[in-house]
Amino acid sequence: MNKYLEQLIQLQKIDIEIDSFEPRIAKARATLDGILEQQESVSKNIEATTEAITDAELKKRKNELHLEELNEKLKEISSKGDEVKTEKEIKALQLEEDIAKEQVDFANEEIERFDRLKESKEGEIVELNAKLEELKEQSIAIEIETSQKLEEIEKDRLKVFTNKEKLLSQMTQNIIIFYEKVRRWAKNTTVVAVKKQACYGCYMRLNDHTYAEIVRGEEITTCTHCGRILYKEVEEEKEDDSTKEA
Ligand SMILES: [Zn+2]
Repeated sequence: MNKYLEQLIQLQKIDIEIDSFEPRIAKARATLDGILEQQESVSKNIEATTEAITDAELKKRKNELHLEELNEKLKEISSKGDEVKTEKEIKALQLEEDIAKEQVDFANEEIERFDRLKESKEGEIVELNAKLEELKEQSIAIEIETSQKLEEIEKDRLKVFTNKEKLLSQMTQNIIIFYEKVRRWAKNTTVVAVKKQACYGCYMRLNDHTYAEIVRGEEITTCTHCGRILYKEVEEEKEDDSTKEA
């Protein structure tokens, strides 16, 4: 096979390997990232719960103030009791007193309700903090494991990049430029095999002339349909799977 074509096949192999690092890194980080996400969600929950407690405290305080006012009012009503004389006045005062007492009951209920709410939210915070601690411990343990995995990947990556640089230094500039141009759209199928006289990038049949050129392997031939760089895989010639489709 043409030396340049061999280099192109090799270059694509390296590029495919380079592309595989990102998913490898994501996979290595997956567990840790999952725990960190959980941590964030628990932290947000703690924040929201803390806000709910502050809110309950404020509302309780509001009701306490209202209660103080109502008690003042009841005192006033009771002192007025001596002054009123007519039936109408007595009734009106009585009504005022009833309403105030009702409001007192309601304010007390509300205070109790906000107390219970605060208590339950405080219980939630204790649980959430425990959960957060647990997650932090988990993440510390996994962080070590993850960084070891990432280090391994980094080592592999450096090796591959060194190989790529070495290969590029041996290649002709024009061919590299051409490869990069096709790769921009063809990605990891820039250099593809020809099987059954078809381009395995676009799966279109090649004409006899192009096919013969590829079989000779003396030049760099591109697909007349899609423009990918083509080569005839030696092993593919032995592997005759045309019987399957026949
Ligand atoms: Zn093609």
